[in-house]
Amino acid sequence: MFVRINPHLFLLQGSNGGRFPYANSLLVRDEVTAVIDTGADVADLEQVARECPPDLVINTHFHIDHSRGNSFFPETRILTHEWDARALETREQFLAATGLFELGEKFYRDGVPCCEAEGVLRDGELLDFGATKLRVLHTPGHTPGHLALFHDEEEILFAGDIDLTSFGPWYGNPEADLEDFRRSIIKVRDLKPRLVLTGHLEPVTEGIEERFNKYLEVLEKRDELLLDFLKEPKTLEEIVDAKLIYRKHPEPVEVYRRFEELMIAKHLISLEKNGLVSKQGEEYQAS
Ligand SMILES: [Zn+2]
Ligand SMILES: [Zn+2]
Repeated sequence: MFVRINPHLFLLQGSNGGRFPYANSLLVRDEVTAVIDTGADVADLEQVARECPPDLVINTHFHIDHSRGNSFFPETRILTHEWDARALETREQFLAATGLFELGEKFYRDGVPCCEAEGVLRDGELLDFGATKLRVLHTPGHTPGHLALFHDEEEILFAGDIDLTSFGPWYGNPEADLEDFRRSIIKVRDLKPRLVLTGHLEPVTEGIEERFNKYLEVLEKRDELLLDFLKEPKTLEEIVDAKLIYRKHPEPVEVYRRFEELMIAKHLISLEKNGLVSKQGEEYQAS
């Protein structure tokens, strides 16, 4: 579904409101045409390829729901941050970046979107499409090279997977970083955007600052849940079993357990560093 944002910007809203495994893409239709993220519906991407073949594809990060459709634009230059470009390069590098390795076979049944992306986008760079100019913001945390794009003049933010969903921030890959994520949320919130487009929601036009604050609060709530659970000593496995983050682990269960474990581990490291949790043998306990 094409949602017109302004005469040059169209949100290609993925199925199910863009919720995972679908995602929203942004089409820039200007002197230079670009597709930002390619997880939108196949029919919409095919229409773009047919009617306004892009000069550029930009991936906010390497995840499959943002890069799956790169294959619709085989002749097009793909730009992303250099870290995520490496993750996109080969199947092995992609699976290593997800931390799933052999588990990836179950999760990525249709393969992974390997491609040669040019990792040349850097923080602060201004992309000139004609009337549309978008500033590149390096917003690490979700992935080390995660990017957001900001239309300075119209104060429109395309925030990728700083996605403002009620689930909250996701950092279930080995190189994802909780503290970086927190700083990146604050960085985009403080731009005071008038309109926020994300990978997985309808356009957000109201209460934007509060929405970002609520999204940040999810991180504190996860810390609190964990501290409460660790009143009694628990092993990492017992913590993962408690499903404090996901609440339920859908199929393939091992994959979601792995994501939960990676996210919990990042909270444990941060809580240990702040003296709120201590580890004795294999067990963690709130101090
Ligand atoms: Zn993502
Ligand atoms: Zn996503």
